[in-house]
Amino acid sequence: MENFVTDAINIKTYPLSEHDNIVLMFSKQGLIKCVAKGVKKPKSKLGARMQLLVANKLLVKKGKNLDTVCQAQALNTFNKLRHDFDKLTYGMYLGELVSVFCRENLNSEGIYDIFYKTLENISEANSKEKILLHVLKFQLKFMQILGYGLELNRCMVCGHELEGDVLLSIDEGGVLCKECSHKYINKINVPLKIREFLTEIGKRELEEETKYDSLINEKVGITCFNLLKKYIGKRTNITIKTAKVLEEQFI
Ligand SMILES: [Zn+2]
Repeated sequence: MENFVTDAINIKTYPLSEHDNIVLMFSKQGLIKCVAKGVKKPKSKLGARMQLLVANKLLVKKGKNLDTVCQAQALNTFNKLRHDFDKLTYGMYLGELVSVFCRENLNSEGIYDIFYKTLENISEANSKEKILLHVLKFQLKFMQILGYGLELNRCMVCGHELEGDVLLSIDEGGVLCKECSHKYINKINVPLKIREFLTEIGKRELEEETKYDSLINEKVGITCFNLLKKYIGKRTNITIKTAKVLEEQFI
């Protein structure tokens, strides 16, 4: 069996035996599951590198059923994220999105890059609204890469360009004009300000700062996060568990 080298971020850990864990990781080649031997031993060098949301360069030995980590070199431990409950929870939410939406056979490099960059940005963020801004940028970009980009400016039924506040159908995944909106239930009102904000930050690359970045406050951030969380949640049959944890925090 061949070995391979890849960059990967740990997203979930399962116990395998007294000393070993299985770690689900998101790599540039997509999701991989690897056995991490001896990580539960107190002196294990691998232990710290196999913690949740650590990015490593790995040497992996391919196995019949499971691959095994031979070597791991930490690329980024996102240290400030690990010591902040909010940052860690949002980081885990992103990890869960990646694990739910990115099954095998997917060109994962673009997603790996935005996942890594967003963890880095969240780690360095110095306020709750900045954390939310980076999470929103990820949510928008992630959906675009998967082909579920959120259309906020044209009615998804008749194609008319929309003005002012609009209604978003969560089930159908798009905005609606007044005439077309009667046929749909489960709609959310999206005020013009929120629509412009999301359109602008969704257009740019993650590292690009926009004048809209400074318009975010906690209320706008949470409103947008909840809207995108619902939109994303409807695009899969699997429940995003971390989204529930984040919901409880907001009450
Ligand atoms: Zn319409």
